[in-house]
Amino acid sequence: MTTKPQTRTQETIDRHDRFMSLNYTRYPIEMVEGEGCRLRDAEGTPYLDLFSGFGATILGHCHRDLVGAVCEQAAKLWHVGNLLHTEPQTRVAEAIARHGFGGRSFFCHSGADANEAAFKLARLYGNTRPTASGESRFKIISMEQSFHGRSFATMAATGTAKVREGFDPMIEGFERVPYNDLAAVHEAVDARTVAVIVEPIQGEGGVQMPDDGYLQGLRALCDERDILLICDEVWTGCGRTGRLFAHQHWSIEPDIMTLGKGVGGGLAVGVMCAKPPLAELYNSATQGGVKHATTLGGNCISMAAAAAVFDVIERDGLVPHACRVGDAAMQRLNRTAQRCPVIRQVRGKGLFIGIELDLQAGGAPFKQVADVVAQCLKRGVLVNGTQQNVLRLAPPLVIAEAELNEGLDVIEQVLGR
Ligand code: PLP
Repeated sequence: MTTKPQTRTQETIDRHDRFMSLNYTRYPIEMVEGEGCRLRDAEGTPYLDLFSGFGATILGHCHRDLVGAVCEQAAKLWHVGNLLHTEPQTRVAEAIARHGFGGRSFFCHSGADANEAAFKLARLYGNTRPTASGESRFKIISMEQSFHGRSFATMAATGTAKVREGFDPMIEGFERVPYNDLAAVHEAVDARTVAVIVEPIQGEGGVQMPDDGYLQGLRALCDERDILLICDEVWTGCGRTGRLFAHQHWSIEPDIMTLGKGVGGGLAVGVMCAKPPLAELYNSATQGGVKHATTLGGNCISMAAAAAVFDVIERDGLVPHACRVGDAAMQRLNRTAQRCPVIRQVRGKGLFIGIELDLQAGGAPFKQVADVVAQCLKRGVLVNGTQQNVLRLAPPLVIAEAELNEGLDVIEQVLGR
């Protein structure tokens, strides 16, 4: 009896299935190499990456400057701990302050980490600004369909019930209201509210855009009631939406901004950036000791990558590029929508694009967005689906217009334009 030879991919999958915690639903594909927006799997099949690993490889795969920065740093110094100074983290903090609102940065490892740091800072603020009757303020308002992470506090803030399912009791002090409903936020605010957290554009929620005046309205309410506005820019930061930080589209400044995903270019970096007077509450010298910390946060290699991300974005004009290429893609998709009943709406900004599908439309060949994603993958294009019916594109910012069009050709074929 002859046995079929195992492919390398199948071997990897078998070992994965034996030894790994099976948290993720994965496609049976093993990626081995990447360059720019292109990936190659273990069988030699090429792919065009229009999702950047949930937005993280924001400069594409193995960008020459990132590889150079990381290798150079790796040969010099990796990590010494935050009892000592290292220049790469200062460089990243400077870049964020210069491009943003002059905030002070705390470095950690993920978007959830960054939001945890923000929530703890908000609680410290609530202690310094108690209610009239002397009680500390601790309540944080977040939005339905939001996503802020899967740690205990970020899960409580997250507006998707499925994420919280099975983990009760939730941490106290979080209240969720509908996105784009300013009146609901006004109603939810009470004497003990200390912060509102919002994604300027909801990512996991299906690339949901804020209505005109919504973010400005939140800013005004927060100012009026001495409440902190936290912008979760884990998805939308670092040029993804055609501004360096998405809140800049609406000319508002948050009190705290959190970053993750793209800021490390594919390495684990989270950032919590707060306005200086607020950041003072984390000052160990003035606040009687360390209030928040993490061992590997700001390690030299991650920071070398993050510094290079900001340098390349600026040097290569990737923010206006994302704007231009993203606008062209959305115009094209809107034209396609006119003759393709499966496309209900195209939304987004820059290179963060959601295509809402009407899976009940006459002749729609799919039952769920996952089928569309699988069909695109079969044709060599990596995209993502969220919220059952939203196809999501977040290609590397370095993508050329022709490459993106090549991907859109495939998506349109799959959708049966
Ligand atoms: N915030 C937003 C807006 C996100 O989309 C995510 C993850 O998708 C997070 C926070 C959590 O980031 P991480 O997965 O790095 O913990």
